[in-house]
Amino acid sequence: MNEAYTTEMVQFRRRIHKRPEEGWTEFETMNIVVNRLRELGFKVVMGTKAVNPNFVMGRNPELVAKAMQRAKDHGVSQAFLDETEGYTGCVGIWETGRPGPVTLFRHDMDCVLVQESHDAQHESVAGGYCSERDGLMHACGHDGHTSVGLGVAHWIADHKDELCGTIKLLFQPAEEGTRGGLPMSESGLLDDVNYIICCHIGTNCQLGEIGICRKGFLATAKMDLTFTGTPAHAGSDPEKGRSALLAACNVATTLAGIPRSGQGDTRISIGKLSAGEGRNVVPVHAQMQIEVRGQTEAVNQYMVDNVERIVKGVSEAYGVDYTIEKVGAATNLETSPEVSDTLEEIAKTIPFVKRLVPSDGISGSEDCTWLIRKVLSHGGKAGFFIFGCNQTGHHKGTFEIQDEQSLPEAFEMLTRFLLIKNKVA
Ligand SMILES: [Zn+2]
Repeated sequence: MNEAYTTEMVQFRRRIHKRPEEGWTEFETMNIVVNRLRELGFKVVMGTKAVNPNFVMGRNPELVAKAMQRAKDHGVSQAFLDETEGYTGCVGIWETGRPGPVTLFRHDMDCVLVQESHDAQHESVAGGYCSERDGLMHACGHDGHTSVGLGVAHWIADHKDELCGTIKLLFQPAEEGTRGGLPMSESGLLDDVNYIICCHIGTNCQLGEIGICRKGFLATAKMDLTFTGTPAHAGSDPEKGRSALLAACNVATTLAGIPRSGQGDTRISIGKLSAGEGRNVVPVHAQMQIEVRGQTEAVNQYMVDNVERIVKGVSEAYGVDYTIEKVGAATNLETSPEVSDTLEEIAKTIPFVKRLVPSDGISGSEDCTWLIRKVLSHGGKAGFFIFGCNQTGHHKGTFEIQDEQSLPEAFEMLTRFLLIKNKVA
């Protein structure tokens, strides 16, 4: 491959790595993406035309407002911020003007709430591009995903005379917490897509390895629960109180006892519970953050139904009010054998890909599954691959990706896919 693409991807990746942005606040990152896509001649769709606000989950308007101000202070123009309508996420569209399929690649842009290591040996410290923002880090490699998208964009512009059909590059916000995929899948921009390819760095693959995921990833629902009780003096008249804390504790233990399903794997995590006002007050407030997962959409729904019934029943028993807010969701991964076979064949032709790693049944969750589901729903085809890097674990401050070697793996997979599916006859 042309070294210039690698150099450029690495530069973008390190620039984005320095300024990590959490879900729904990726204004600086998106500004880099949109400017570059336009410079290359892509049409860009953004704002509520790319992200359907009716399907947005887990987006905090106050956090967004602060992020827009921060981006502005960091040189992003007001005109650009206005164009976003407050929603990060965009699609670059390249129309070749020749008949052919519509192919879409998805790249996520958000970071993780993790403090990056300041160890002198740590890759980004040694390279001088460590995160400038405390408590935020690209510890899942989405900076790499975004940069691969920009590298592929450049390649498309350079090779426009060899391509047919339409190519869409989708840059997604808020993958962490599985929040941004669904609203982009409902934008209408996926409705004409014939092929969708999604990918992720790391996970079970080392540098020089590619994994084709034919199925896997768990369907999931993330929920915030609140309980509101009745205050009372804990000594003089506790009988007049209704404890939100006790209700929440009972909900927590009852949820943990939801029977496993014979229809597929399930998970439940009670990740956070905070409650109460003080020692001698019957607790009025309790908040919980939970998530459930299931091997299929139906099994996940079984978990959600149980959560709803238990929260309702226990709240009634304790005489407290409750709310359940869905703040994230993903479905399980389904792909098309034809596309997976093509990806596998491509991987075998890339000189620096040494090994194909079996990658079905990965048990995390990924919300590109909504984008894929949308494309499959109208007869389009989908594939998912993992490109390797040597890492110490995702979502950890020591996460590293060896960008000079890992990013070309994904770049080659995607551009070679275009040379098969979108090649001028
Ligand atoms: Zn990730």
